[in-house]
Amino acid sequence: MKMTQTFIKTLREAPKDEIAQNGALLTRAGYIHKELAGVYDFLPLGLRVIEKIKSIIREELNAIGGQEVLLSSLQNPELWEKTGRFSDQEVDIWFKTEVVGGGTLGLAPTHEEPITNLLKTYISSYKDLPLSVYQFQTKFRNEKRAKSGILRGREFLMKDMYSFHATEEDLDKYYAEVEKAYARIFERIGLTETYKTFASGGIFSKYSHEYQTFLPVGEDTVYYNADKSVVLNKEVLEPEVLEDLGVKREELAETTAAEVGNIFKLKFKYSEPLGLKFIDENNAQKNVYMGCYGIGVSRVMGVIAEKFADEKGLVWPEAVAPFKVYLVGIGEAGTAKAREFYAEHEDEILFDDRDARPGEKFADSELIGLPLRVVISDRTLAEGVAEVTERKTGETHKVALDKLVEIL
Ligand code: ATP
Ligand code: MG
Repeated sequence: MKMTQTFIKTLREAPKDEIAQNGALLTRAGYIHKELAGVYDFLPLGLRVIEKIKSIIREELNAIGGQEVLLSSLQNPELWEKTGRFSDQEVDIWFKTEVVGGGTLGLAPTHEEPITNLLKTYISSYKDLPLSVYQFQTKFRNEKRAKSGILRGREFLMKDMYSFHATEEDLDKYYAEVEKAYARIFERIGLTETYKTFASGGIFSKYSHEYQTFLPVGEDTVYYNADKSVVLNKEVLEPEVLEDLGVKREELAETTAAEVGNIFKLKFKYSEPLGLKFIDENNAQKNVYMGCYGIGVSRVMGVIAEKFADEKGLVWPEAVAPFKVYLVGIGEAGTAKAREFYAEHEDEILFDDRDARPGEKFADSELIGLPLRVVISDRTLAEGVAEVTERKTGETHKVALDKLVEIL
């Protein structure tokens, strides 16, 4: 992508009302634009990060048999009344809207009810099970606090997956597969300091699990023991739980974290009230076992921005960087050579072809935070090299021009 052909514009100052570091940096660097508190637009650079995160998640979920769908945002209250969840007393973050001609609709904050209802058409026998479906979908939640940039949106992108099983054993088996897939996802995305934590399980299971990334500005508090690889949420610090997990209270240290995902064994919580049943091998009618598995895709982007940023700007892990290389040409011959390199590898390069001083381009390259900056100047050209600077370490080394393609 060429800078002169995009509307990316870096800003020296963050908007005054943007107090969260992720929101401020992502806005200044041209990744997002704020519409309202908790409501953001994703610009070309930001969308590329989102798409890269989605691709990694998609690959890992397809590998465990997930089928991708896209459900609607507008919701029929009658469906949610069956589980009691249309009530504002029960779920206090609904956005509801009046329909022309009468009636109310809701904007989906999550999708357990619609997916369970939808699958009544497609699941009737044990032969239809197991089944796992997922989507990347915009959720709407009327959050009270929306001051954390894209960490907490009123409109945000979630990956939500739901699985359906004939037996509890099969649900347990799939849940364990999802745990492995989640570990691979967070590792690949670059959020290696993400831990599966024990959280309370609700009425149907002992524990649910959250995925928490250690982060100074995270909203959650977790308790961990690195030696025993145990991480717990505040709500499960009960003596029986500690005994169950083999840790003592005094062996746990406290830290802050951001919840980037969570997984639940729902069992019959939704299948029962919504009537999702199947006929087993012996012709008996039974409730379908369910699990649900979320990842906050836009929050993940914000967590990455927060976690790796330094005083100069953003620092993207390579797997989710919008481009691998920020390319700068200096001088007439250097710029011509840079243009040539860009033309051959457009997909991986953000080419700063603006008519601006090198110092300004260098500062923007640091703010935008791509893994590598490549500078080709008249001087480096005379040596037959380009200067390649790693954003993470700030280290620069020379690479022969005929070997430059190898850094991509
Ligand atoms: P939180 O405790 O942070 O409000 P939650 O328990 O309400 O999260 P879920 O309903 O399980 O979260 O949603 C699945 C995932 O979506 C969460 O793990 C989180 O990463 C993300 N998420 C939830 N609410 C928001 C939000 N308002 N903005 C951005 N991401 C969110
Ligand atoms: Mg919430």
